[in-house]
Amino acid sequence: MKIYREVAIECELEKTYNYCCAFCGGTKGQKPSKYHNPLWLTVDHVQTQNEGGSCKKENLQILCNRCNSIKNRWGLPKLEPREPEFDIGKVENAQHRLQYKIMPARRKTGWTYISRIELGY
Ligand SMILES: [Zn+2]
Repeated sequence: MKIYREVAIECELEKTYNYCCAFCGGTKGQKPSKYHNPLWLTVDHVQTQNEGGSCKKENLQILCNRCNSIKNRWGLPKLEPREPEFDIGKVENAQHRLQYKIMPARRKTGWTYISRIELGY
């Protein structure tokens, strides 16, 4: 069986996601002021492998390392590709919203569909 990174490369997942995080729009190398390290892009399992999520592209999306680490605790649905966000303040705001508003709310309601409006874009 192919590992998910191979699948991501084969199906050009980063390109599909416009080389940016599907949630905050952050791109590789951007540096939100609070963090020591620049952002990088990660391949995220929408449904985790522990929960039986597959390594097929339908279950994979691109998130920045920051959103992925916030998400990992609570889960996010599969997001549609978006345009990159080059305003670092907006990237930071989105990450902050994810951490302090969206994820705590989702923890209460469980795994349900979350719309673009709820996500704030
Ligand atoms: Zn992000």
